[in-house]
Amino acid sequence: MTDKALHVLKEVFGYDQFRPPQDAVIKRVVAGDDVLVIMPTGGGKSLCYQLPALLRQGTAVVISPLIALMEDQVAALRQLGVRVACLNSSLDYVSQQDVEMSLRQRQLDLLYIAPERLLQPRTLSLLESCDIALFAIDEAHCVSQWGHDFRPEYLQLAALGERFPSVPKIALTATADKRTQEEIVERLHLHNASTFVQGFDRPNIRYRIAQKNRAREQLLRFLKSEHPNDAGIVYCLSRKRVEETAAWLNERGFAALPYHAGLSADLRAHHQQRFLNEEGVIMVATIAFGMGIDKPNVRFVAHLDLPRSIEAYYQETGRAGRDGQPADAWMVYGLQDVIFLRQMLESSTAEEGRKQVERQKLEAMLGLCEITSCRRQVLLSYFGDEEHEPCGNCDTCLEPVPEWDGTEAARKALSAVFRTGQRFGVNHVVDVLLGNTTDKVKAEGHDRQSTWGIGKELGRNAWRSVFRQLVARGYLGVDGEGFGVLHLTERCRALLRGEEVLHLREDKRETEQSFSKGRS
Ligand code: ADP
Ligand code: ZN
Repeated sequence: MTDKALHVLKEVFGYDQFRPPQDAVIKRVVAGDDVLVIMPTGGGKSLCYQLPALLRQGTAVVISPLIALMEDQVAALRQLGVRVACLNSSLDYVSQQDVEMSLRQRQLDLLYIAPERLLQPRTLSLLESCDIALFAIDEAHCVSQWGHDFRPEYLQLAALGERFPSVPKIALTATADKRTQEEIVERLHLHNASTFVQGFDRPNIRYRIAQKNRAREQLLRFLKSEHPNDAGIVYCLSRKRVEETAAWLNERGFAALPYHAGLSADLRAHHQQRFLNEEGVIMVATIAFGMGIDKPNVRFVAHLDLPRSIEAYYQETGRAGRDGQPADAWMVYGLQDVIFLRQMLESSTAEEGRKQVERQKLEAMLGLCEITSCRRQVLLSYFGDEEHEPCGNCDTCLEPVPEWDGTEAARKALSAVFRTGQRFGVNHVVDVLLGNTTDKVKAEGHDRQSTWGIGKELGRNAWRSVFRQLVARGYLGVDGEGFGVLHLTERCRALLRGEEVLHLREDKRETEQSFSKGRS
C-alpha cells in the first residue's frame, strides 16, 4: 500500500513525502479503520482523507460545516484532476441534480457536503445506494457541547455508524484537548479508533513565564535587551491597558500601536497594515487581534495578563516565529491575575456545567505557569502529544526552578485566612502573618489573634508567592464578588491535618532572568 500511496502523493498532489502522521493515518483509513486526527491548522489534515479517497473504492464523503472552505478545497482538487463535487445550500436545483447524477454513476472520488444536508433522509438514502469509500468528518470538535463551536447537527452524525457500519470514519480537528478528543470518539461512535496527535510543537519558540513585578518595566527590559527593533505582539486583557501600554512604549521610543475592538474599523485596519508592512512594529492588543494574521517574522509574543486557557495561550503564542527562526513567548503573571480570572469565572452567569469546564481550563493554564518541569511538555501533553523529552528551550529547562518545602508556610497562611474569618483579601492576611499593626488589623482585633505575627520568617513578596500558589492550586478559593476575599477549600484538609507535604516554586526575587545560554 505504501508504494501506491507514495505514487499517488507524487502524481496527483505533487509532494515527495508524507508529513508525519499522514502516512500512518492513511494506512489505517485505507485498511478500513476509524481514526481521529488532531493536527494544527496548516498541518496537512486534508491529505489524510483525500489520498485514501483515491485509493479506496467508491466515493469519499467529506462533512464540513464551512461552505467557503468547502468550495476552496473543491476548486483546488479539480485543478489536480480529482473528480470532486459539493452539495450545499448555495447550489441551485439543476446543479444539485448534476451532482447526484455523477454520484450515482460512480464518477466522483470525493463529495463535500454540509452536515445538515447529509442528514436529510433523502441524502442518506441516496448515499446508501452508492459505494462509499469513507466518511471524513472535518472540524470534528463541533460535536463537543462544551467547545466553542458546538453544532447540534454534529451530534446526529453518530447515526452514520448505524447506517454505514462497514464504512471507515476519519474525524479531524485542529483544536481538541484530551477531554474533547474522548468526546469526539464517543459521540461520533468511532470504533476502535486510533488517535493521531502531531505537529503541535513549535520548537523555535522559547517559552518563558516569569513572576509579575511591575509588569511594564519588565516588558521594557525584555524588549530593550532582546528585541530592540523587532516586530512583536503584546497581549493585554483590557482595552484600557492596551491603550496605556502602547502610549507608554511609544514614549520610550518603540513603534507601538494599539489594537482592540473599541477602535474604529478604519483605525484597526490601518494599524494592522502598518504591523504587516513596516519593520519592527509592536502591536499592543487584546485578543481581538491575531486571527488570520500571517506575518512570518513576528519575533515575540508577550503576555502582560494571563490567558484563560492553554488553547488561548497556544494560539496567541503561536503567532510568533512562523518563519521558523528563534522567537520568544514571554509572559509575566502574578497573584492578581489568578484572583481576577477566578473571580470573573465565579461571578459569570454561565450555567454550572459550563463554568466547571472553564474552571478546568483555567486550572490547566495555572498548572502550566506553576510547573517546575519543562513547559513544552505540559503544553504538548495538553493536546495529547505525550512523547516529548524536556525541550531545552523553555525557562524551566534552561534554568531549573528551585523548590522549597512550603508545607509549614502554607499551613500558616491557611490558618491565618481561617482565623480572620475568611473575610479578607491577601494583603490584609499577609499583614496579620507579618505581625503588622495597620489600622485594619487593629480595628478587627487581629493583633490579638494566634496567627498574628507567626510568619515573620518570610517577607511580603514571599508570602504573596505562597498565596498565589495556594490559589493557583485550588487550596484557596476567591469569592466572585468584590475584593478577592479568600476562603478555604476542601483541598486544604489533608494539608492542615499534616498529611500532605507541599512543594512550592521558589520565585526569584529579581524577576529578570538571564537567558544567555542555550540560544545559538
Ligand atoms: P489543514 O487542513 O491541517 O489546515 P491542509 O491540509 O490545508 O492543512 O495543508 C496545509 C498545507 O500543507 C497545504 O498547502 C498542503 O498542500 C500542504 N501539504 C500537506 N501535506 C503535505 C505534504 N506531505 N508535503 C508537502 N506539503 C503538504
Ligand atoms: Zn522545556
